[in-house]
Amino acid sequence: MNKPLVIAIDGPAGAGKSTVAQKVAERLGLAYVDSGATYRAVALKVLEAGVPPEDEQTVSRLIGEIEIQITTDGVQPHILLDGRDVTDKIRTPEVTLAAAKVSRLPEVRTKLVELQRGYAKGRGVVMEGRDIGTVVFPDAPLKIFLKADPEERARRRLGQDIKEGRDATLEQTAYEIGRRDQLDAERKLSPLVPAEDATRIDSTLLTADQVVERILELARERKLAEE
Ligand code: C5P
Repeated sequence: MNKPLVIAIDGPAGAGKSTVAQKVAERLGLAYVDSGATYRAVALKVLEAGVPPEDEQTVSRLIGEIEIQITTDGVQPHILLDGRDVTDKIRTPEVTLAAAKVSRLPEVRTKLVELQRGYAKGRGVVMEGRDIGTVVFPDAPLKIFLKADPEERARRRLGQDIKEGRDATLEQTAYEIGRRDQLDAERKLSPLVPAEDATRIDSTLLTADQVVERILELARERKLAEE
């Protein structure tokens, strides 16, 4: 049996990964997985337990007790934390920052990478994140590293926040993105770097649909898609 197809889409916050990954998944009939949601779910658990995300020892202990599930209602992806749907709860600025902190810990990464790999067993996926092409699926036949200028990423993230009913300013958003870029790029384990064999796409001047078309073109060139 052929191995199910994995398309890895990595890049910094606000580069357009979610929109693009969802559309590519839809066009190719693959499942869409937002790996960041799993780190956010751990962060939520840590915050709800009243544990500072910097407290490495306690977080590492807590991770053994957490049950996270990636699921879907058939249309939208959902994330369950200890059986509870936390899809909306994990989008707050507090959880966002805490996710970038807990994601530095080896115990957290080991558990979540295993979960992400498990989800892709037996089904084709488009998975977005920071280390999908480098660590989670180093053999993925198509890896994209999506980037965009920091100002454009802040504008996009702000637009998304406002659309989803969260209050924010461009200044706050740019600060938050800059801080996360630094945490993600400088961490020792699985830092945000493009895989050597990733195709880099700069989305600053492109629409989401243009990026999607480029990825589909690459998929067709590699005989991964017929469309
Ligand atoms: O993608 P998202 O912004 O939801 O990710 C939240 C945080 O989770 C990131 O800032 C990063 O620290 C962490 N993350 C990670 N590896 C991934 C996906 C997300 O370390 N594959």
